[in-house]
Amino acid sequence: MIVLVVNAGSSTLKCQLIQTDGKVRLMKALAERVGHPDAVMEAAFAPGFEPRAVEVAGCDVPACLDRLLDLLESDPASPIASLADIQAIGNRIVAGGEHFSESTLIDEGAFAALVQCEELAPLHNPAADACIRLLRHRLPDTPQAAVFDTAFHTSMPAKAYMYPLPQRYYQQYGIRRYGAHGTSHRYAAQQAANLLGRPLADLGLITCHLGNGGSITAVNHGESIDTTMGFTPLEGLMMGTRSGSIDPAIVTYIMRRDGIGFDEMDRILNKESGILGVSGLSADMRDVLAAADAGDADAALAVDMYVYKVQKAIGSFYAAMTRTDAVVMTAGIGENSAELRERIFAGLAHMGMILDLEKNDVTGQIGVNRVISIDDSPIKICVVTTDEEMRIARETDALVGGEAEAAR
Ligand code: AMP
Repeated sequence: MIVLVVNAGSSTLKCQLIQTDGKVRLMKALAERVGHPDAVMEAAFAPGFEPRAVEVAGCDVPACLDRLLDLLESDPASPIASLADIQAIGNRIVAGGEHFSESTLIDEGAFAALVQCEELAPLHNPAADACIRLLRHRLPDTPQAAVFDTAFHTSMPAKAYMYPLPQRYYQQYGIRRYGAHGTSHRYAAQQAANLLGRPLADLGLITCHLGNGGSITAVNHGESIDTTMGFTPLEGLMMGTRSGSIDPAIVTYIMRRDGIGFDEMDRILNKESGILGVSGLSADMRDVLAAADAGDADAALAVDMYVYKVQKAIGSFYAAMTRTDAVVMTAGIGENSAELRERIFAGLAHMGMILDLEKNDVTGQIGVNRVISIDDSPIKICVVTTDEEMRIARETDALVGGEAEAAR
């Protein structure tokens, strides 16, 4: 099945066209700084993936998608002859609230519920909904699915998802932990079960999605029982530009001291903090590791803090579960940085997570799912390559294919 995967953000749009049967990517496109004067969009087609610029000046996110569809229709190198070749659309939705515990086909009822979830992720969900509307207009006969970042976490018990605030904020505003990166955590857990050769339902796992955004999840018998991200993806670990968890009183203190408003404070916490804020250099872990190696003290502090916060989160979820069989590392940093994995697990050996330094070495191993703990480590350590777009495409394929099967 040919699936168009649409991942819309507040000022970004990522799309891929995926042939799910052979897990083949046919097109990749990325628009950034959408809505700003320097907005750019590039699309690339298989097999060479030569990037070509798409003119998106003055476009909002759905308008960028509209331009991309025009390109797919008109470009001689397009991997499809017409838009009718797209058999299904998979939309990544950041917040599904309490409405959605699974991916779903988007019928009228589901779309109405999606619109109700907009206020939970005001930067992301409205853009995704606008793309769904546009696609309904341009591809009215093509089924669309919604795949949620939050769905995997709807299994959390109340003691994990409630905040110690007056209950009215939960009842009136839906303020609770929703978590994120659910598609990645679910996938990492399943891949780890495959690597260990045991049913997911028998295992206790701690899955670590360590990328530009980062979150850690306790997965008990295949279900998320707690996760570090919260009401929004700002809570939890220190991230590329996000602070993660801090004393909430700091927020009002800075606002008062600097006389700044909500939007400015929001921007500082989401865009200027984390690895970027502490290192003063970059949000990219590779740059910061290189600077730390070259003797930059602030970069070294940022890496130390990052490692320490990951260690503490793994330790707290070890305590939250009744058994831990494996810790699973995934996403940009988790998959690729042998150095950070070595530093993280150097502090966790006393809990029975014992890294094998040779297996941890990345040489020739990038993209290979594998166990990297010593053979008799009481708790195994696994590395799994995450691929969010492919997951969304395959979930969409399963939903649309299942529906077609049921109609037969
Ligand atoms: P993601 O959001 O999953 O694409 O991950 C992006 C993050 O992974 C960035 O901070 C990158 O610097 C980091 N990353 C990718 N490769 C490496 C590597 N070899 N060593 C350290 N960090 C890496």
